[in-house]
Amino acid sequence: MDLAPLIRNVPDFPKPGIQFKDITTLLLEPAALHQIVDGWAERYAFSKIDAIVGVEARGFIFGAALAYKMGLPFVPARKKGKLPAETIAEEFDLEYGKDTVTMHVDALQPGQRVVIVDDLLATGGTVAAVVRLVRRLGAEVVETAFVVELPPLKGRERLQGIPIHCEVEFMVE
Ligand code: AMP
Repeated sequence: MDLAPLIRNVPDFPKPGIQFKDITTLLLEPAALHQIVDGWAERYAFSKIDAIVGVEARGFIFGAALAYKMGLPFVPARKKGKLPAETIAEEFDLEYGKDTVTMHVDALQPGQRVVIVDDLLATGGTVAAVVRLVRRLGAEVVETAFVVELPPLKGRERLQGIPIHCEVEFMVE
């Protein structure tokens, strides 16, 4: 199934000039979620993955489904102030603003191999911060997986050396 037509483009959201790629329309098609999650589960079946890290909030949808499918732990990377126990934090620049992402200090163990999941790769700032968190806990990022990539925003350049997997590319800024 071609996933691109299922992703809605919303111009000027959340501010003028942003082409927002809305994956809620894709989620209305159950076969699309199956295709993505089943494909990723096959992709990582023999990669000795120990945990799936999902990035708040839309990364939770795909990440938790993948963790369920693979029978693996799911680790949420959340915005500052959301996780209740002891956390570590990393700041990053967003396509629209600044933010901080956190993880529980006991969410991953040294040496564990993880896949980081989010809905979309734009500038790569968000996932780069999550990569830093995972590495600070001593775990290894095997790959970062996204539904959508916006290549003009050059996320791949920021993530040099970190494998990236995407389902759909849109050549918009
Ligand atoms: P970035 O850190 O620039 O790679 O931005 C990625 C994060 O911001 C992801 O969690 C996306 O959900 C969100 N995001 C950034 N740009 C867009 C966009 N154009 N459409 C939808 N989500 C976006």
